[in-house]
Amino acid sequence: MDREVFDGILRTWLKGIEGASPTVQQVRPSKRELALRREEAEILTRLLDSRTKMLQFVKVDSAAGFIVLIDTDPLSDAFDTDACLRYIEAFQRLREHGLLVNHSGDGQVFHLSAEGRGGAKQIRGKCLGCGRSMMNVGTDSAEPLVWECNNPRCIDSTWHRDTVCSTCGKRPAEITSGGLNFTNFLCEDGHAFKTTPKR
Ligand SMILES: [Zn+2]
Ligand SMILES: [Zn+2]
Repeated sequence: MDREVFDGILRTWLKGIEGASPTVQQVRPSKRELALRREEAEILTRLLDSRTKMLQFVKVDSAAGFIVLIDTDPLSDAFDTDACLRYIEAFQRLREHGLLVNHSGDGQVFHLSAEGRGGAKQIRGKCLGCGRSMMNVGTDSAEPLVWECNNPRCIDSTWHRDTVCSTCGKRPAEITSGGLNFTNFLCEDGHAFKTTPKR
């Protein structure tokens, strides 16, 4: 191989590496790249709507060891270890993605970063299940907003949010079909079952 051809190949190869490496734009946290889970979306939007704009990460004497609070309200029951762990993990992920900041450096009091506020505004009022806009059905202006999805084809909507599989009791994973007064689902474990919509 002569030198010129080799250099040509080398340049193409280096360009390929440059193209493949993440740019600043790509690593910046955003809704899509973080692939927000339910608890993460809840933390972001509740914090955006909160009175104090303050999240607290507090050590407690329970199996989970810590609890996450917004406006000094715990997001989960301290003795519901599964729920506590989901919120702790959600909090850690948001923190790692730079969506939460701890200005005081005490590791306890957190606020939304500029990116966190931007992300929260993007998803605020949008259903995680179907992406459609939700309605605020809260009546007490002192309390956090209460968002409800009203899309009958969405498993997270007000119609189906309490629905569980008649075989195993797990949540539906998808809606396979439906009509005026019934909906067909597949659960997380693949069982087919049917319910009638309810409110
Ligand atoms: Zn929905
Ligand atoms: Zn099932």
